Amino acid sequence: MPPHPTAAASVPGGEPVAAADEESPAARRLRRLSLHLLQPSVPSAAHASSPSSSLVPAACAGRRVVEGGGDVAAALTAYLRGRHRAAQMRLYDFFCARPDLQTPVEMTTAAHRELCFRQLRALVRDAGVRPLTLMANDPAEYFAVMEAAGGADISLGVKLGVQYSLWGGSVINLGTKKHRDKYFDGIDNLDYPGCFAMTELHHGSNVQALQTTATFDPVTDEFIINTPNDGAIKWWIGNAAVHGKFATVFARLILPLQGKGGEPADMGIHAFIVPIRDLETHAVLPGIEINDCGHKIGLNGVDNGALRFRSVRIPRDNLLNRFGDVSRDGKYTSSLPTINKRFAATLGELVGGRVGIAFCSVGVLKVAVIIAVRYALLRHQFGPPKQPEISVLDYQSHQHKLMPMLASSYAFHFATVQLVDKYSEMKKTNDEDLIADVHVLSSGLKAYITSYTAKSISICREACGGHGYAAVNRFGALRNDHDIFQTFEGDNTVLLQQVAGDLLKQYQEKFKGGTLSVTWNYLRDSMGTYLSQPNPVTARWEGEDHLRDPNFQLDAFRVNKLSPQYRTSRLLHSVAARLQKHSKTLGGFGAWNRCLNHLLTLAESHIESVILAQFIESVKSCPDEKTREVLKLVCDLYALDRIWKDIGTYRNVDYVAPNKAKAIHKLTDYLSYQVRLVAKELVDAFDLPDLIIRAPIGMQSEAYAQYTQYVGF
Ligand SMILES: Cc1cc2nc3c(=O)[nH]c(=O)nc-3n(C[C@H](O)[C@H](O)[C@H](O)COP(=O)(O)OP(=O)(O)OC[C@H]3O[C@@H](n4cnc5c(N)ncnc54)[C@H](O)[C@@H]3O)c2cc1C
Repeated sequence: MPPHPTAAASVPGGEPVAAADEESPAARRLRRLSLHLLQPSVPSAAHASSPSSSLVPAACAGRRVVEGGGDVAAALTAYLRGRHRAAQMRLYDFFCARPDLQTPVEMTTAAHRELCFRQLRALVRDAGVRPLTLMANDPAEYFAVMEAAGGADISLGVKLGVQYSLWGGSVINLGTKKHRDKYFDGIDNLDYPGCFAMTELHHGSNVQALQTTATFDPVTDEFIINTPNDGAIKWWIGNAAVHGKFATVFARLILPLQGKGGEPADMGIHAFIVPIRDLETHAVLPGIEINDCGHKIGLNGVDNGALRFRSVRIPRDNLLNRFGDVSRDGKYTSSLPTINKRFAATLGELVGGRVGIAFCSVGVLKVAVIIAVRYALLRHQFGPPKQPEISVLDYQSHQHKLMPMLASSYAFHFATVQLVDKYSEMKKTNDEDLIADVHVLSSGLKAYITSYTAKSISICREACGGHGYAAVNRFGALRNDHDIFQTFEGDNTVLLQQVAGDLLKQYQEKFKGGTLSVTWNYLRDSMGTYLSQPNPVTARWEGEDHLRDPNFQLDAFRVNKLSPQYRTSRLLHSVAARLQKHSKTLGGFGAWNRCLNHLLTLAESHIESVILAQFIESVKSCPDEKTREVLKLVCDLYALDRIWKDIGTYRNVDYVAPNKAKAIHKLTDYLSYQVRLVAKELVDAFDLPDLIIRAPIGMQSEAYAQYTQYVGF
C-alpha cells in the first residue's frame, strides 16, 4: 500500500503538525507530549547516587552525544570479544572479500542450496577452516566459527551445523577409534558430506519411539537397515535431498533369536553409519529412496530430504559402538546396564548441537537489534513546534520496545559464553556433575533464548516501520530462517520439561540428603527459607539503590510465578506435592500433564535467574570502570524489566507492595531512557561489519544513501 499523502505531516492523533503553534487543545497536547519526550521524569533521588550519573543527559535527547562514545564502544567490544574473535573476523573478512559467496536477496531454492554448499566448501577449502578439528580440540572456537558463518547466511550456519555438529559429532561422540580413523578427515575436509537421520514422519520429539530397524545378520556379519512402514520414513534430514553421501541413521537394534523364547531382541535405539550416495558418481545407492522435503518457509539453503530404506545392508563395523556393541557371533555388550541408560548416554553426547543453536540464536538477535536500533537513531519523525524532528528512538514507546531487547542480547551473550565454556570443560573432564549441568543448561537456554529471539525479530521489523518490510533490510529472512530454531535440536516445550524435571530431581535428592550440582546451588541456600513469608518491610522498599541492588534482583527472580507462596524452592515443594497427589489418581504421566503449565513456568523462571546471575557476575568481573558502569545499567534494565513483566505474580504474593511496583515501573522506563543514550555504543560494541549486517537501514553511516542506491537511484 502506498503511504497516505498526509501521513508524514501528521501526529498520531491526525492533527497537522503546523497546528501545534496555535492554542488549540490538540496543540497543547502535542506540546505536552514533546515536553515528555525531552525531559523524561526520573525516579525520586535517582541521580545523585546513581552509579550511572555520568550518563545523565543534557536537555535534548535527540541531539545528545555521549562523551567519549567511541571509547565506550571500543572498551565494551574488548570485553565482549571472546578468545576467538580473531577467527570470526577472519571469516567475516573472507566473506566480505568474496562477492561470489554473498547471498543475494532473491534466489530460487535450488540456487540457494548450491550457493550454501559453495559457501561451506569455500570456508573449508579456501579459508582453510577445519570445523571438526576445532570441535574436537577447542569447541569454543568451533561455536564462534558457526556463529560467524550464520552471520553470512543463517542457512550456512545450519548447513555447517548439520555437517559438523550432527553428522561429524555423531561419528566422533557415538563411535570409537575405528570410526574416527576412517571418517574424521573426510568429514572435516568435506569429502564426506553427511546427514543426521533421526526424525521420522511419525516421530520427532519422541526419539525412543522411532521405528526404523537395524537387524543383525550373523551369517553375513551385517546389519540390515529397514523402514518398516511409511511412518518410519526419515523426514526433514538436512543434507539428504542433494549433497549428503552418508547418514548417521538412528534405528532400533534387533538381534534375532535373542529375546525371550527365541524371539528377536530389541536392544533400543542405536546409531549406524549408512552410505546413501556413491562417492564417485553421487548416484543414490540401491535400496535407498530419497525425496526432497521441498521449499520451506525459511532456511532454503539447506536441502532437507526424506529417506526410505529397503533392507539396506551395512557392515557390522558401521554400528557407532561407544555405548553398545555386537560381537561377530551376535552377542550384545555394553558398559551401561539398561536401554534407558544407553539412550540417555547417546542423546547426552549430542548436546553440542543444542549449545550451538543457543549460541547462534544470540547472534541472530544481535543482528536484528543492531538494524532496529541504528534505524531508530537515523529515523526522525515529528518534533516540538518549529524545531527539528526527533529520532524515533527518543520516543518512550520506542525505547520500551527496543532497549530491554538490547539489554537481553547482552544478558544472553554472557549466558551463552558461559554455556560454551562449561561445554568445553565438560568435554575435557567428563565430570559427571558438569555433564548433568550442561545438559539442563543447554536445554533451558536453547529454549528460552530461541523463543525470545523469534518474538523479538517481529518487534524489530515493526520498529522499522515500512522499511522494515523490505526484504533487503533482512527481517523477513531473519525471522523465517531463525523460526525453526525453536523446534529443531529439541522442541522448546519438550526441552523446558527436561529443565523442570531436573529441578524436581535436585529437589527430591536434597530431601534425601543428596548433593546439589553446581548451577543449582542457590536452591540449597533458598531451601531453608521455603516456608517463610514475604517480608512486609522490604516489600515496600522503593529506593533506587535497593531496586538496583543485585541481591534484591536475584532474590526477586527466584520468586516462583504460580504458587500462592514464593521462591523457587517453595514452587518446587508445591509442584512436587501436586504431582504426588495427582499421580495417585492419574498416574505419573497424567499427573505431569495436569501440572504441565506450572512446570514450564518454573523452568522459564529458573532459566531467567541463571541468566541474570551470570550477567551480574560478568558486570562484576569487568575490569574497566566505565565499561562496568555501562554494563551495570544494562543489567539493571534487564532485571527490572523482567520483574515488571511479571509484576502480577509479585503483587499476588505480596512480595512487592503497590508503591514498590510503581517505583519498579518508573525506574524501568528511566533505565530504558538511559540505555537509549548509549544505545549506539552498545550496538556498535557487537562489532559486526556492515557487510555482515547487510541491511541498508542498519549501516553505520550513509544508511539512506545506501538504501536509495540499492533501489536504483
Ligand atoms: C528445517 C528443519 C530441519 C531439520 N533437520 C533435521 C535433521 O537434520 N535431522 C533430524 O533428525 N531431524 C531434523 N529435523 C526434525 C526436527 O528435529 C523435529 O522437527 C523436532 O525434533 C520436533 O519434532 P516434531 O516435528 O515431530 O514435533 P512434535 O514432537 O510432533 O511436536 C509438535 C507439537 O507438539 C508439542 N509437543 C510434543 N511433545 C510434547 C510434550 N511431551 N509435551 C508438550 N507438548 C509437546 C510440541 O511442543 C509441538 O508444538 C528438522 C526439522 C526442520 C523443520
